[in-house]
Amino acid sequence: MRRAQPRPTCSPAPSQTSSPNWHSLRPGGSSGISSQPNSSGARTEKQPPRRRVNLPLRILIGVDGTLSDLLSTWLGIYNLKYHDSIEPKHILTWDTDKYVKCGDKIYDLLPEAFQLAAPLPGARWAVDTLRSQGHDLYAVTATSHKKTANIIAKAKWLAYHFPDFDPEHVAFFHAKHLIKAHVLVDDCPANLVAYRRAWPQAWLATIPYPYNRHMDNTVDLRPLRPPPGAWEDIVKGITALSRP
Ligand SMILES: [Mg+2]
Repeated sequence: MRRAQPRPTCSPAPSQTSSPNWHSLRPGGSSGISSQPNSSGARTEKQPPRRRVNLPLRILIGVDGTLSDLLSTWLGIYNLKYHDSIEPKHILTWDTDKYVKCGDKIYDLLPEAFQLAAPLPGARWAVDTLRSQGHDLYAVTATSHKKTANIIAKAKWLAYHFPDFDPEHVAFFHAKHLIKAHVLVDDCPANLVAYRRAWPQAWLATIPYPYNRHMDNTVDLRPLRPPPGAWEDIVKGITALSRP
């Protein structure tokens, strides 16, 4: 699929790499996992139970759509400018330009959207809770070095809304699958597929959006509840990984 200015948080799938025997959090380190939603909306594994490891877990967290409520802000700016009424529920694939009448020009609105987006409901609480549990959190976001305005806007956003992330814990990096961690929380299907392929034993979760609805068999948890419930379910899942 071709687009002039792709959304910034997806990476191409990597070539197959060997997986490390490094704190396996998944039974057998298999790719994909059988899960069924329970009454709370969280997904539960059929068998066997996942392994638990000692603290701390290294947790990678995406920014756009995971820490920030980017999509609704972005579409709001678009609707005002182009007199349209597109909502996040209408965006069924990663290629947002296919669902708007301005096409690729919607990517020109990203710097303003990065700046104006509010934190995703529950994200602030989730970061505080996970950090209080002793985990090592990293904010990892894909932004092209050729899009200077995007980098500046996102850096300012993180510094304002999540000043508790020190510079050593923030990465502007497309190939998230090259960073070894116990847990990845990200909304981008390509990132999730690449990470699962590179690290079969890592534990993956995503904020649920229509464009990642087909990720149920790739991630360990795709909550059925929207934020903030989604973040609550994800924190509950991570907490269960490391509980003594
Ligand atoms: Mg994202």
